[in-house]
Amino acid sequence: MSRIRAHFYDPAGARYGIPTYPWGMAPPHLLTRRQLTARGLRPGGQPVVAQVLWRSNRYRAPGGVRVAYLYDSRQAMPKRTATQAQLAAIAKACAARRICPHCGVDSGYTIPRSLDSCLECANSPLEIAV
Ligand SMILES: [Zn+2]
Repeated sequence: MSRIRAHFYDPAGARYGIPTYPWGMAPPHLLTRRQLTARGLRPGGQPVVAQVLWRSNRYRAPGGVRVAYLYDSRQAMPKRTATQAQLAAIAKACAARRICPHCGVDSGYTIPRSLDSCLECANSPLEIAV
């Protein structure tokens, strides 16, 4: 193990407060949120149980060290799926946001809050004038 990898190897959490592993060395049951999602799981309210630290200067990582938080897949719960009623309610709400309050036409896009009308109404101020 290189010096830097050894520096990030702290499975007991003595140095970092929580169990810490270098890149690629975390135990297989500890997964990131995205890895859980890929398996159809969610953290399910559990706290972060461990972390992976690695050297990287991408994204202006503070101190040149990036972190990935890990969850215990054995404590994870299945992802929730929306019911038909929830999907219908969302579709209805989205449709309402596409209808211009001035001309009443479904614009096909969400009406910008800054304009409060479709782009065509916004570009013809005389028609809006009350
Ligand atoms: Zn309009």
